[in-house]
Amino acid sequence: MCGGDAEDLEDVNRVYLLPEPQQLDDVERWCFSCRSQYPHEPAAPA
Ligand SMILES: [Zn+2]
Repeated sequence: MCGGDAEDLEDVNRVYLLPEPQQLDDVERWCFSCRSQYPHEPAAPA
């Protein structure tokens, strides 16, 4: 999970690629660095 002290956090759903693509329902807050490095989808608005 993201360290979370950056200013550009966004709500996302992490996407795991192995063993097969799987999008989690849990919303996490990721900074730009994490969003650029790890697969994810934007979280649906509450
Ligand atoms: Zn981060």
